[in-house]
Amino acid sequence: MLHPDLHIHTTASDGVLSPSQVVLRAMERGVDFLAVSDHDTLNGLSEAEHAAQAAGVHFLPALEISAGGDKEIHILGYGVSAQDAALTAYLDAMKEDRKQRSIKMLDRLRTLGMPLSPEDLAAKPGASIGRPLIARAMIAKGYVRDMNEAFALYLGRGCPAYVARTDIDVCEVISLLRRAHAVPVLAHPGLLGWDKETFSQQLHRWLDAGLMGMEIYHPAHEPDQFEKWRSIATRHQLILTGGSDFHEPDDKHADIGQMIPYWKTANEDMQQLLSAVNAAKGN
Ligand SMILES: [Zn+2]
Ligand SMILES: [Zn+2]
Repeated sequence: MLHPDLHIHTTASDGVLSPSQVVLRAMERGVDFLAVSDHDTLNGLSEAEHAAQAAGVHFLPALEISAGGDKEIHILGYGVSAQDAALTAYLDAMKEDRKQRSIKMLDRLRTLGMPLSPEDLAAKPGASIGRPLIARAMIAKGYVRDMNEAFALYLGRGCPAYVARTDIDVCEVISLLRRAHAVPVLAHPGLLGWDKETFSQQLHRWLDAGLMGMEIYHPAHEPDQFEKWRSIATRHQLILTGGSDFHEPDDKHADIGQMIPYWKTANEDMQQLLSAVNAAKGN
């Protein structure tokens, strides 16, 4: 039986462990097949791939792209190539957009009497300054007690320091990933909180755009919801995936490998995913 974890973040986005540290932790925790899926970047992949090779763990390059408007929707892309020109150009443009957005949010925090210097933010070179990083700096400076407070009072949608992202249509992200020879998978559908009808309407748009899979085994889904998501996914011939969405040890996020005990069909599902990844490469 395979022990996969296909949803892991590193310091290349908003995780706290480097790609090599993530691979070691995965190995220690019994994961034998991992995908690193940082937010909107391919930067951690080559380090992770080398570390996985050295450790003898199977590795699948991936990323998690944020899309949507009012509601943020995450699309995982499996089997991506860090050399894909169109994908790289797209991610660079998004990065510039995020940079402008974080500058505006920091301006607003300063106006609110909560200045943060670049040292406070302690961003790793190349890492993007997103809201989680800003929130951690606010906690360190004593402006707020915890992440919840930072988001509820200042950084959440509609709050005084919040600046909206540029909207990106999910269908656009799906077709971008297909053109980049990757397999697009809807991440944690349970987090959308939509009613059945809204979800089904959106899902049909995404299927038409080329969506190929759905993440079922995610810590945001209660174990008694797995069957519901499985049946929706299989009804639409979608590939089933799973992962911990690991960001850091010992916090409210799940740890690496945490979904493995629930993922009883990992062998069949991985086989489907890997053949889709191989077929996409050949296109
Ligand atoms: Zn996500
Ligand atoms: Zn994630």
